[in-house]
Amino acid sequence: WITLGIETSCDETAVSLVQDGRKVLSNVIASQIPEHRKFGGVVPEVASRHHLECIHQVVEEALTKSGKTLKDIHQIAVTYGPGLVGALLVGVAYGKAMAYALKVPLNGVHHIEGHLQANFIQYPELEPPLLALIVSGGHTHLVKMETYGHYEILGKTRDDAAGEAFDKISRALGLGYPGGPFIDEQAQKGNPEAILFPRALMEEDHYDFSFSGLKSAVLNYLNSCRMKNIEVSIPDVAASFQKAVVDVLVKKTMTCAEDQGLSQILLSGGVAANSLLRNSLQETCKLQGKTFYVPEMYLCTDNAAMIACAGYHDYCLGYRSGWDLNAKASIPIGERR
Ligand code: ATP
Ligand code: FE
Ligand code: MG
Repeated sequence: WITLGIETSCDETAVSLVQDGRKVLSNVIASQIPEHRKFGGVVPEVASRHHLECIHQVVEEALTKSGKTLKDIHQIAVTYGPGLVGALLVGVAYGKAMAYALKVPLNGVHHIEGHLQANFIQYPELEPPLLALIVSGGHTHLVKMETYGHYEILGKTRDDAAGEAFDKISRALGLGYPGGPFIDEQAQKGNPEAILFPRALMEEDHYDFSFSGLKSAVLNYLNSCRMKNIEVSIPDVAASFQKAVVDVLVKKTMTCAEDQGLSQILLSGGVAANSLLRNSLQETCKLQGKTFYVPEMYLCTDNAAMIACAGYHDYCLGYRSGWDLNAKASIPIGERR
């Protein structure tokens, strides 16, 4: 069973062919990061145009690399939200047209369920129940997956997403876009104990996150250094900021897993590429007798293999999308279409 997955929710045009939901035959990603870099963030209109310009080529390349032809495709899975509507529409329209022409089923996939399911590709034997920490550019979610199709959000950010915080602090430090990799790199050279930044909501008895206070604390620190003419150590700020984010993410995830009696912990989303987060969660899981799962880097950031995987599992549950499938800027995780 071969699923062709399409992902265009943000600034990556991605197409992948996946066999039986878990084996990647090809995975092509056209990133627009250089296009948006000069603006310091994703410009929605530029993103939509770019998807439109390259989607056909990306599909062709994914087919060629997989050694398959259109006749071999059994199903189309496409991200229909959450994300930038104009960007999503390109993938949704393309996916619908393809499914219609090929007379194969169509499944609209929730982007965040896709991020979670990236782990099913990395670990072909992995099965729910599990707890997933999904940390990306726009989301910070603790999701309990009881079984396929059953998702429950146990905690989420009340303001900024983790990735957003990395991006904003990177910009304030004069580093590049997107910020995560730059902060990660600087932090390796810095002292994480140099500056004590706040760990919001860490001791409270719920699993929600908040990163905007941390962001303000870092900005205030930078401003006060400037005013007092104190030289700022970028590595120390990066390391101390990163440690504050990771401490909260790890603590909340472990408490939640313990409370829920879940022994499998998954990490995914773009921020899962962060070296401190990966290592800390791995270590803590080991200490506390939990099994830790995290995909390779190429499956952490946006890709279409994870969308094909999630679409495949939805199909197996009996879900089918209609020709009225539409792009949606925001959708609750677990909603079916
Ligand atoms: P969403 O999935 O919420 O719609 P998105 O798709 O834009 O948002 P992803 O592509 O999954 O998000 O992740 C991008 C984010 O990951 C960016 O905020 C980026 O800074 C962050 N990121 C990437 N690498 C690292 C890293 N090494 N450390 C921390 N953050 C990172
Ligand atoms: Fe994403
Ligand atoms: Mg992205």
